[in-house]
Amino acid sequence: MNQSIQDLVVGGGVLGVNCALALADAGRSVTLVEQNTVCSGCSHGNAGWVTPCHSLPIPGPGLVYQTLKWMLQGDSPLYIKPTLRPALWTWLWRFYRHCNEPAQLRGLRAMAELNRHVLPLTKELVQRHQIDCQFEQRGITYAFRTEKGLQKGIRECERLNDHGIPGEVLSPHELRSREPELSDTMCGGVFYPGEADCVPDQFVKQLATRLPRQGVRILDHTTVNGYAVRGSQITEVATSNGVLHPENIVFTAGAWTLVQARKLGLRLPVEPAKGYSVTLKRQAGTPHNPLNLAEAKVGVTPWRDTIRLAGTMELAGLQLKINERRVAAIIRAAQEYLPRFTAAEPLETWTGMRPLCSDGLPIIGRSKRFDNLLIATGHGMLGLTQSVVSAQIIARMVLGGDPGFDVTPFAPDRR
Ligand SMILES: Cc1cc2nc3c(=O)[nH]c(=O)nc-3n(C[C@H](O)[C@H](O)[C@H](O)COP(=O)(O)OP(=O)(O)OC[C@H]3O[C@@H](n4cnc5c(N)ncnc54)[C@H](O)[C@@H]3O)c2cc1C
Repeated sequence: MNQSIQDLVVGGGVLGVNCALALADAGRSVTLVEQNTVCSGCSHGNAGWVTPCHSLPIPGPGLVYQTLKWMLQGDSPLYIKPTLRPALWTWLWRFYRHCNEPAQLRGLRAMAELNRHVLPLTKELVQRHQIDCQFEQRGITYAFRTEKGLQKGIRECERLNDHGIPGEVLSPHELRSREPELSDTMCGGVFYPGEADCVPDQFVKQLATRLPRQGVRILDHTTVNGYAVRGSQITEVATSNGVLHPENIVFTAGAWTLVQARKLGLRLPVEPAKGYSVTLKRQAGTPHNPLNLAEAKVGVTPWRDTIRLAGTMELAGLQLKINERRVAAIIRAAQEYLPRFTAAEPLETWTGMRPLCSDGLPIIGRSKRFDNLLIATGHGMLGLTQSVVSAQIIARMVLGGDPGFDVTPFAPDRR
């Protein structure tokens, strides 16, 4: 294979599939390459939440102290593997610089603006392509078992309300009438009515089946290995199946995007942030609707026949080894909040690497260094949530149009 093509999308996760579709809808001829099969990366086993209420960027005041405390616990929700790898230290330094209130509020403003478009666009896409993925806007409930956690959750809710994301505080009684399976020791809750969820794997895979109909060519089991460059143009992309000469390249390789970027001499502020999920048969103790076990930072998503527990953030480099202690901690947390839940009949234990930016915002835009390179990655905990809106922005940029709102906070070359 030695071919000239129009747009090349590298990586077939939720970002890649959405970008390919948005570009095809904009009249472009698109090739998508995926080193394994579509949706085999981080997009496979996540909690499935389409969740604007997660608009507050992760780096924030108090997090450094909290992280240091967590580092002493082997089963904490956040863990940083001690290493001398310079890229991690640079990333941590940048992260630290964003752990303050003004930076977090700036980030919140940008995220809330981006996330305003999430639900309308995602709903429209699911309907237009008749994606059967149990997509439903049924809200998300946060359950707090400590007074300190509840007070923090209420402050967060007020901030989000101020930025147009509705949420209401629940008394312990209101929380338990909404979710009777919760322990009667809960201090209270917050309900965010505007949130949706779906089975993420079904969303991506079904969307991918629509791609060939829209003229997209999918090359799976095809790895991008390297590039040839002339001036500010990437002229050649070497893959395991031959050489491509694209007009535009869109990096959507998730946590692996940093490897591709490095090959081009670009340093993206992205680190792999590993998380885990356990999917089980629906059983006693299953909540009615998606539940955030707030202090434990575990998401619980009930679907028709299954229930998924998801959580943990581990900065341990680019590797997919499953740490059983963390999986056990997720199950234990669910049992503490939902006493009837026995964790019977597990169907899948999974790990995936979120691409996480040091300022907590995604990367969506055109590279300054290479005119024909666009990047959509670094969405952290919100890759599914922001996939459709990110893809729209990328497609508009390829066409040379205006994305419709200020996307400079997401620029790939920001510092
Ligand atoms: C436990 C957990 C729970 C989560 N819950 C949610 C949630 O509820 N809602 C939400 O919005 N987000 C959630 N996320 C985050 C979300 O899963 C990610 O942000 C999202 O999946 C990232 O998608 P992606 O397309 O960027 O990356 P990926 O899905 O990882 O896709 C990248 C693809 O690129 C391919 N690739 C890499 N290198 C190459 C190469 N050289 N050549 C060809 N192909 C290549 C990979 O094989 C992979 O398939 C969660 C994450 C975790 C870990």
